Amino acid sequence: MKALEKIIGIFRRFPGVGPKQAERFAMYVVKASPGEVESMVEALREVKALVKYCPDCYNYAEGGLCPICADQSRDRSLICVVERPQDLAAIEKAKSFSGVYHVLHGAVSPVAGVSPDQIRMKELLDRVRASDGAVKEVIIATNPDADGEATAMYLTRLLKPYVEGITRIAYGVPLGGDIDYMDEVTLGYALKGRIKI
Ligand SMILES: [Zn+2]
Repeated sequence: MKALEKIIGIFRRFPGVGPKQAERFAMYVVKASPGEVESMVEALREVKALVKYCPDCYNYAEGGLCPICADQSRDRSLICVVERPQDLAAIEKAKSFSGVYHVLHGAVSPVAGVSPDQIRMKELLDRVRASDGAVKEVIIATNPDADGEATAMYLTRLLKPYVEGITRIAYGVPLGGDIDYMDEVTLGYALKGRIKI
């Protein structure tokens, strides 16, 4: 069954999808009505044609600026740097950041061989330099793993001459968590990043 194998093969290429799951997705398509399949195909074409990157922050955008960059009430002196658009969405959900973002689309990784020029790092440097001092703070919110740390260090070196405040998000104890069960690295960071109350 060539057609079936083909669609399973396509689903297998989706991130995080294993062989069993790919098979279930394929079965769903087989059982779906022709109208439903047509709307799937249409949605795929539409997303490919319309969804591009925001020219300012590289978040997803449907032509022109993304909704955040287009929002005049956002504080442009504050840029939060994230690895992926999903990270931006997560921070937006927290509703405690009023600045703008920069999406790197990856992290520098000496192990995986990802160099700074393979992610949107130069674009951030250009943006900060072009602001001519209007950007007051860059918050680095890359992941708290080896690659995220390497990226944060690299960014700090790169941006230091052009922006007065470079900060890193704090790591800490999750709300509702048990100190007892925390790993010592996180606990160490939580202590180091303690705040006065
Ligand atoms: Zn944007």
